[in-house]
Amino acid sequence: MNTIAPSDSLSSSSISTINYRLPQIEQLLQHPDLADYVRLLSRPVVTNTLRQLFTSIRQHPDFKTQGVNDLDVMTLVLDSCRQLYRRRQQRVINATGIAVHTNLGRSPINEQIWDSVKAVNTGYNNLELKLSDGKRGDRNGLLSTLIQSWIGAEDCVVVNNNAASVYLVLHALAAGKEVIVSRGEQIQIGGGFRIPDILALSGCKLVEVGTTNITTSDDYINAITDNTAMVLMVHQSNFSMQGFTESPDIQDVAERLPEHVSLVIDQGSGLSSEQYAQSEVSLPRYLQMGVDLVCFSGDKIIGGPQAGIIAGCSKLCQQLAKNPMMRTFRPGRIVLSLLEQLLVQKLNRDPAAIGVAQQALDRAKVSQALAQQWALRWKAYAQAVPLMMQVGGGAIPSETYPCYGLKLTLPGNAQLHLDALRELPIPIIGYVNSNQLLLNVATLLDSDHAVFIAQLDDYIQSYTNTEVK
Ligand SMILES: *Cc1c(COP(=O)(O)O)cnc(C)c1O
Repeated sequence: MNTIAPSDSLSSSSISTINYRLPQIEQLLQHPDLADYVRLLSRPVVTNTLRQLFTSIRQHPDFKTQGVNDLDVMTLVLDSCRQLYRRRQQRVINATGIAVHTNLGRSPINEQIWDSVKAVNTGYNNLELKLSDGKRGDRNGLLSTLIQSWIGAEDCVVVNNNAASVYLVLHALAAGKEVIVSRGEQIQIGGGFRIPDILALSGCKLVEVGTTNITTSDDYINAITDNTAMVLMVHQSNFSMQGFTESPDIQDVAERLPEHVSLVIDQGSGLSSEQYAQSEVSLPRYLQMGVDLVCFSGDKIIGGPQAGIIAGCSKLCQQLAKNPMMRTFRPGRIVLSLLEQLLVQKLNRDPAAIGVAQQALDRAKVSQALAQQWALRWKAYAQAVPLMMQVGGGAIPSETYPCYGLKLTLPGNAQLHLDALRELPIPIIGYVNSNQLLLNVATLLDSDHAVFIAQLDDYIQSYTNTEVK
């Protein structure tokens, strides 16, 4: 198994002795079991951790009278290092059934795409240099051209994340003016991103129209004054409203808006086709309806790096690009080069560029065979069960998709096993439902399969003392 995490195994040759002095930290750092942690955490960080640990041992009332067992000290040392290492960013296996999972880094970037931008990032590049005349250029590179081919937008601006997109659009195009927003869209998206707050911070005046469940075209049109700069529509990303609801005909709003009012949609997910979600409107369709700007995340459905993409009317994009706040929101070349590479491959219909959401939806269809095959491997301890998966990350909130997963039945409490799977060298993140430990197979990446099986082989064997074949 390819693990980078230390095993925490104590060398069996150690003989336990009671000491009244703690070991020298410098000497301890030579211990082979600590070498891995020095590599993973750095020598100064490990040294400081050991110092703090030893201070607390020395202050313990029993220390002076009873001393400490040196094996206990080593266990505490390794445990402190391990706790620290667990806070470091590391690979995990997503068996949650939520493809774009905010807690798990949203979109994994395809390995081949990642490798393709290595040279452009590990050397100097032409980020802001026009190779044609040697003068200073902008950092958009080929992105506008690619976005144009992809969703039919005239132009685009890329910022660090989609929350920044919304802020920049409001601040650059509507500061000091009125922005009309439906009462049904006065929402909070994820942690601390509330539409009314963002509006206030960007210096715009919020004009609320409609009701929570119903907003019509007339509601928007009737609210327009000379001081209105924008109609902002926000995708209800983390919930869906059902029952007696009505949303405006967007094309109708677009056609009836006067020249001085722009129509902006915070679409969020980056959905570019309605293939998997008939209830949703894709980016190209919004633009066809006459929406001036759409904004969305780079790391939700499209499967790229974290970024906010604002696409549409060229004149408005240029205004955004010229705004002084752009300087605070502009991404670096890592993000821009990854987006370029992703879009080139997307346009060429390369499977590497389909994004994790679509991948998971495709995998859902073959997840039954996989789950059944693995269930056979772990016989009495695993069962293939039908589950549901979601795209997640605020994309397509109204849809769940059938798929398969594993139900593990191991001696003891399901929650304890769930916690223990997070302790594996490459943590497996599952979930518990009605006291059942579930591992959704649809959100595993192909590259996870081998290590998923190997770790579960070991884990199940350790809990059942049966040979797993
Ligand atoms: C996800 C989302 C955001 C926030 O995007 P980040 O990239 O997380 O900043 C804003 N609006 C909508 C509609 C979203 O779905």
